[in-house]
Amino acid sequence: MTKVVIIGGGPGGYEAALVAAQLGAEVTIVDRDGIGGACVLTDCVPSKTLIATSVRSTYVKEAAKLGIDVAEADGRPGVSVDLKTVNARVKRLAQAQSDDTAARVVKEGVEVIPGEARLVDPKIVAVGDRRIHADIVLVATGAHPRELPSARPDGERILTWRHLYELESLPEKLIVVGSGVTGAEFANAYQGLGSEVTLVSSRERVMPTQDADAAEVLEGVFGRLGMTVLGKTRAESVTNTGGGVVVTLSDGRTVEGSHCLMTVGMIPNTANIGLEEIGVRLDDGGFVQVDRVSRTSTPGVYAAGDCTGVNMLASVAAMQGRIAMWHALGEAVSPLKLSTVAATVFTHPELASVGATEGDVRSGRIDARVVNLPLDTNPRAKMTNSKDGFVKLICRQHTGIVMGGVIVGPRASELILAVSVAVQQRLTVDDLAHTFAVYPSLSGSVTEAARSLMQASPE
Ligand SMILES: Cc1cc2nc3c(=O)[nH]c(=O)nc-3n(C[C@H](O)[C@H](O)[C@H](O)COP(=O)(O)OP(=O)(O)OC[C@H]3O[C@@H](n4cnc5c(N)ncnc54)[C@H](O)[C@@H]3O)c2cc1C
Repeated sequence: MTKVVIIGGGPGGYEAALVAAQLGAEVTIVDRDGIGGACVLTDCVPSKTLIATSVRSTYVKEAAKLGIDVAEADGRPGVSVDLKTVNARVKRLAQAQSDDTAARVVKEGVEVIPGEARLVDPKIVAVGDRRIHADIVLVATGAHPRELPSARPDGERILTWRHLYELESLPEKLIVVGSGVTGAEFANAYQGLGSEVTLVSSRERVMPTQDADAAEVLEGVFGRLGMTVLGKTRAESVTNTGGGVVVTLSDGRTVEGSHCLMTVGMIPNTANIGLEEIGVRLDDGGFVQVDRVSRTSTPGVYAAGDCTGVNMLASVAAMQGRIAMWHALGEAVSPLKLSTVAATVFTHPELASVGATEGDVRSGRIDARVVNLPLDTNPRAKMTNSKDGFVKLICRQHTGIVMGGVIVGPRASELILAVSVAVQQRLTVDDLAHTFAVYPSLSGSVTEAARSLMQASPE
């Protein structure tokens, strides 16, 4: 029986364990913080749970536009958030998800060892004094928040997202440093919960890696709801003044707030666990270098998830882990294909995307046609007063094969599936256009966008 040892019990690790167990291997996971990993315990799951509260609270605040009377006597919407209760729910839910996942892997016969692991040899994993022999090792150790020396998080006023769920009351004035996906999600979430939010962005626009039209819509929504976005400036330092924080910007300005949330990137958990000593190559940022079937430079040692720096998403981590096990255990396997990964920014409205981008078209990398259909023409969007957003579709110039898409709107994370299926299955815009969508529905905009990309057949 092949012995597989997995270091790290996040989605990269536990999904791999399930595959390896299914294929008849003897599987051990060593994890230091809890099955589910940072994904379930501190990052993805807690943030999306918090955002669910924020979105509901925004719906209540906007309910008056749909004729619902929620106004207090002074004319302001009667919504207030008890952050202690919200955070208790977030933590409870995260722990329950971790417990469910742990129970599932144990049920499949996987051994779980709590503790910190390191490699002493490509085939020996050490946990304290214990030595575990492995035929195959998978490193899935994840990553942790990057810290700036001049803005060290203290857990009280200067925070990383992993501190947020310990707060007992809502930050009155929250300064979010970093306007990538994580920064934008939290800035928007706390805005929805009732904090006054300032977002410090080093770039010209927020979320520079996302579709430019989508980022523009979201920046417009943020501003309309009162967020201050300070663009093209960096936080040089952050000081806890006792009663609040002062953020000093690179242009010399200072911003005062009650709390500062630092979202300035991730550092892989790859130091001091014996990787380089056994020949595993890391890149300059410390990320494990892997090929498309998750092999590292050391035979028999695979890596998956955030520690590889490959599109840092839970879904990608899980797929890398599964691919590693299929490959290691001799199954037929398709190498990881990033061009079909669907991703969502969980702002309100959501921003979901898959496949090729408009940037690919503009740069000439692909020969394609693009349509952008604003949501405010969609009847369902009008009924629900969800006018911010659009559906963008990209198809190959001549064949009409769907290559990518972007959706900004409520539940875009769910709506994107139709486009993902089209991209994955190489469907054409005609295929999408001939698909029935419910009337009235937001998904009607997907089929309508496809219709507008159809071309008359040559005579
Ligand atoms: C705020 C935030 C929100 C996010 N939201 C989403 C989202 O909505 N959707 C999405 O797809 N992705 C999201 N992500 C990304 C997602 O959380 C990660 O891509 C995912 O956690 C990666 O999984 P992983 O298995 O590589 O690592 P992790 O989930 O980090 O798990 C790694 C595990 O390894 C353990 N470990 C580390 N070193 C050792 C060691 N030496 N010995 C033993 N155990 C060790 C850790 O304790 C941890 O349990 C979000 C990230 C952040 C920061």
